[in-house]
Amino acid sequence: MKTLAHRNIPITIIGGGIHGCSIALRLLRDMPAAAKHIAIVDRHPKPLTEWRNKTERQGMTFLRSPIVHHVSPDPLGIVEFAEHHNRSNEFAPPYSQPSTELFWDYCKDAVTELMDQNIYYQFEVSKLHWNKGSGKYPFRLVSKDNIGFRSSAVVLAVGSDDCVYIPSEFIEWTRRFPGKIIHSSQFSLDSLKNTDGRKKFVIVGGGLTAGTLAKSISELGHQVVLIARKRLKTEQFDFPPTWLGPKALTNFANESDFLRRYHIIKENRGEGSITPDVMEILTDSTNIEIYPETIIRKILSVGENKLGQCLRMETTHGMINHVSDVIFATGYRFNLRHYGFLKDLMKQYSIPLICGLPILDTDLQFCPITNLFGSGTVVQLQVGPASSNIAGANLAYARIREKLLARLPKNSI
Ligand SMILES: Cc1cc2nc3c(=O)[nH]c(=O)nc-3n(C[C@H](O)[C@H](O)[C@H](O)COP(=O)(O)OP(=O)(O)OC[C@H]3O[C@@H](n4cnc5c(N)ncnc54)[C@H](O)[C@@H]3O)c2cc1C
Repeated sequence: MKTLAHRNIPITIIGGGIHGCSIALRLLRDMPAAAKHIAIVDRHPKPLTEWRNKTERQGMTFLRSPIVHHVSPDPLGIVEFAEHHNRSNEFAPPYSQPSTELFWDYCKDAVTELMDQNIYYQFEVSKLHWNKGSGKYPFRLVSKDNIGFRSSAVVLAVGSDDCVYIPSEFIEWTRRFPGKIIHSSQFSLDSLKNTDGRKKFVIVGGGLTAGTLAKSISELGHQVVLIARKRLKTEQFDFPPTWLGPKALTNFANESDFLRRYHIIKENRGEGSITPDVMEILTDSTNIEIYPETIIRKILSVGENKLGQCLRMETTHGMINHVSDVIFATGYRFNLRHYGFLKDLMKQYSIPLICGLPILDTDLQFCPITNLFGSGTVVQLQVGPASSNIAGANLAYARIREKLLARLPKNSI
């Protein structure tokens, strides 16, 4: 495998998740000769690792979004793939949502192009420098092991996994009971494989991660109490689909107050919802109790049983006894300050933030740093409530396309 050390790369994408790979595949579609001028850098050895890990650890069986949202630029590519492999039965009604396995196999197939063309590199960025006026390659990226290279343009597609969110009042309990009270990102269904006995889990959260975990854990024979601060909401999508169309996006763009934009995003994404198919399973299951509109007051240790330390939870819904594990499925709250490799750059150029999200220009550039772009959660204040979802990559690419193509050497056009 080629190394990046000391090279000059016209376009570097930081993050090889759905967004980073989608941007790269779209660039290649627009300009096939661009392959030797693009690099994706990611801390994992293979693309889409975070997505694969998360869906497997939770036991998610179907996507929430419809058939046309995936990693490649061909909207119906997954349909052809399914037909070709006799897997057309893996689309679920009512919106032809693909099974997680079909989605994964299709995306894995689509990104082999990035591996075959040596576009993807395992490289964890620990510093990003920008030296305005230093010529054609003003960005310098440095890895954890001190390997450096230069780039003409950089796209940040870092997701939000570095921004795990647990409400502040619960953090002390995660410290007091390490391994027993955890965030959903620390949990894997695999950990239940060799469990000898029936555990009782409390899952905290009202979104699809909480619902999927409750379903998957209960299907393994364990008992689950699902606690949500509000009433559980049932929705097929996690934002109204109008946010993919021009009308809502134009109105959003016309809102000049970025704090107001932040609140529009919050209002439209809500605090999470559960798809109708998962909700039906939750309400029908005899292994699951649902406590909506419930506040946790206290968690205590009440000794040990054969499954380990036993907890008791005091809630506004009553006492929950014999709890073996508590999982906070309380999501992620993006904050650019959590990305250490950007710290100096943000300070040096005073990147403005609203509740941790950067204010970018309409081309998704981090003004005043020219040719530093974003895709995914980081561009929410420009792209709106859909930006962190799979479909958001297409919306982001439409905004950054021209400027990125302009960074490529003329002979590759
Ligand atoms: C269980 C589950 C189900 C979902 N279902 C749907 C759905 O049905 N429809 C939908 O639209 N969305 C869905 N989503 C949401 C969607 O999948 C994610 O929002 C999307 O995958 C985010 O992609 P991303 O590329 O922005 O982030 P990620 O997948 O997190 O990728 C970011 C990458 O950046 C890398 N990175 C970060 N920092 C650095 C660094 N310093 N150096 C190098 N690399 C770095 C990370 O290693 C990671 O690989 C789902 C999410 C989950 C977890």
